[in-house]
Amino acid sequence: MRGDFGYMEEGQLGKPYNLRLLRRLLPYVRGSWGAVALALLASILITAADLAVPYVSKVAIDHYIVGTWYEAKKPLPAEAKRILENYPDGLVRSADGRAFMSHVKATEMDPAHARKLEESGVLFPHKFVRAPRNAKTRRILEGLPGLADMPDKTAMVPAETLAGLSTKHRAILRADDLAGLFSMGLLLLALSAAAVFFGYWEYNLLERAGQRIMQGIRTHLFDHLVAQSPAFFDRHPVGRLVTRVTNDVENLNEMFKSVMVTVFKDVFILAGIVGVMLALDVRLALVCLVLVPPVILVTAVFSRMARDAFRRLRATVARMNAFLQERLSGIRAVQFFAVEDAQMEEFSVVNRENYDAGMLQIKIFAVFMPLMEFLSALGVALIIWYGGLRVLSGQVTLGTLVAFVSYMRMFFRPVRDIAEKYNIMQAAMASSERIFEFLDTDERLPPGTGQAPEKREGRADFQSVDFSYEPGRPVLRNVSFSIPPGSTVALVGRTGSGKTTCAHLLERFYDPVSGSVAMDGADLRQWPVRDLRKRLALVQQDVFLFAGTIRDNITLGQDKGEDALLSAAEKSGALEFIRHLEKGMDTVLAERGTNLSAGQRQLLSFARALYADPAVLILDEATSSVDPETEAAIQKAIRQMSAERTMLVVAHRLSTIEKADNIVVLSHGRVAETGTHQELIQKGGLYAKLLEAARRE
Ligand code: ATP
Ligand code: MG
Repeated sequence: MRGDFGYMEEGQLGKPYNLRLLRRLLPYVRGSWGAVALALLASILITAADLAVPYVSKVAIDHYIVGTWYEAKKPLPAEAKRILENYPDGLVRSADGRAFMSHVKATEMDPAHARKLEESGVLFPHKFVRAPRNAKTRRILEGLPGLADMPDKTAMVPAETLAGLSTKHRAILRADDLAGLFSMGLLLLALSAAAVFFGYWEYNLLERAGQRIMQGIRTHLFDHLVAQSPAFFDRHPVGRLVTRVTNDVENLNEMFKSVMVTVFKDVFILAGIVGVMLALDVRLALVCLVLVPPVILVTAVFSRMARDAFRRLRATVARMNAFLQERLSGIRAVQFFAVEDAQMEEFSVVNRENYDAGMLQIKIFAVFMPLMEFLSALGVALIIWYGGLRVLSGQVTLGTLVAFVSYMRMFFRPVRDIAEKYNIMQAAMASSERIFEFLDTDERLPPGTGQAPEKREGRADFQSVDFSYEPGRPVLRNVSFSIPPGSTVALVGRTGSGKTTCAHLLERFYDPVSGSVAMDGADLRQWPVRDLRKRLALVQQDVFLFAGTIRDNITLGQDKGEDALLSAAEKSGALEFIRHLEKGMDTVLAERGTNLSAGQRQLLSFARALYADPAVLILDEATSSVDPETEAAIQKAIRQMSAERTMLVVAHRLSTIEKADNIVVLSHGRVAETGTHQELIQKGGLYAKLLEAARRE
């Protein structure tokens, strides 16, 4: 499949969410399932701890701070008895038969029942607080009116009586409640400590899994990338490919983290909040849920607007990047022609677009965030109003009300989170789509079907080769010639006649449309590509040098020993200038070797080819002119190299090839004539004309 992934911009993307993508991601997650599962578990535990905090506060308020009990009328009317039968452990009895109910139990009753009990005066009018009976409290309790002794060594103290005591005495009587509060405080502390602990593991495991997944994808991408045919690289700009392996993978990691984990966590916490609210008080929970539709609506509208703004922003950033990259790499042209002003104007337009897109995004967020705050405040107001009403009527405890306020605030956090992460997810989705589309694009040449011939002769044959880079535009037509082992064949012809193309076909960068190119008697399509390339070496027209030492540039990471290195440098004629460099072989080259001269680069590329020690050396000679001395060095190097092996030389300086065993003259992709230098001169054809033209220069 031939994808156009490289040309897709964010703005043109189709569906934002795609489960197919998540499925494609799964194989890379496979090695990290354990870590991911543990991270998810940790995040569930953190969420549970978060959810527990308001609940613990509620218990602290209801049981220990408020802690009120109601006394039931004595004797109980028959109807009240019947009602209370529904709540078997609702009442606790004192030693002398008085009955009490805690205010928490009272709010948990069916509202109709509670109202009946209240109306008939069975419950409610008198409030009590439970106090322990021990050595410390004995003296204070002595003689207090209205006490009721409970079987568990506590006493019910009427609230009014308690209010009449000094602060110190009140504290002593409520020692149990204070102890309870203290333990609740400890519990809250423990919960936060647990959240910190699990938070550490969640982050750690998640990041580790994310890094490992990215590493896997990058390896896969690079593998895939280097296996593609040169035709693929003709069509896809390098910058885009680099983005695929770096930025896009980084974005994908973001997707893994935000989509797979944050969303999971957010949904979990939302469900948890709704669940706890419903369990605490159904009516109050339903009132709160009234807010859900407007929240969803606002979030949906906002997400859409934010997505569009975000895409616009990305598009302007891409445009600005492209502009800058182009102008800076062409800075010489800009400066030589003194067109800085015009460029500045153009840049300010792009810059302005970027600013506008950024501002639009900011404006959208500036509306959304306060709007969410408002909805959250509205939720709290609803709780205070309706919940307060129910607290006053004794149907909801104060603790529940406080817990609701906390849950309501908590509810908005994940909503805001999801809305905010939406952009990241969008970009991540786009990136992953491009990554997978790239992985689906496979333009490798079909692998060799057979074995490399045993005999390492160094013979090459072109047989009726037709070739075109693009369908319908033939570049080579019926090209046939042979290079016998050990001989040197030269290819000449006007520019664009197809010389480099022949060299590329022999390297099997491309396959011929028809006809065959063979090496050591076997069609190239039968050769395992790596074996073939080991037997051939190509010195290209545009020498490519990496940033690194001279040594690295010659060996390309293959260690054959210092002798091989020196001999290659010597034979190629490069040793001479390398010796004169301050650090010799260890001199560091700038990117693309710009700190060497054109001739030096050429010699270095010879050294590289000789180091590879191929059976056949293909030389696509540079057109750049070098000084006579270097030219002589190059000539000498070529002569030396050709003495030892088969060579195909693409020559522009015809002087180079006078000694070639055979010369193939190409014209518009066809073989115009072949023969030795002498033969061709005598023939007086195209070669003679080319030679004449060269002489006249
Ligand atoms: P020169 O002497 O200038 O190096 P050449 O003989 O090496 O020329 P080739 O590079 O083989 O010429 O190109 C032959 C034809 O193929 C030219 O018309 C060129 O436009 C076309 N061509 C070369 N490379 C490609 C490519 N990657 N994609 C499409 N067309 C190409
Ligand atoms: Mg060429």
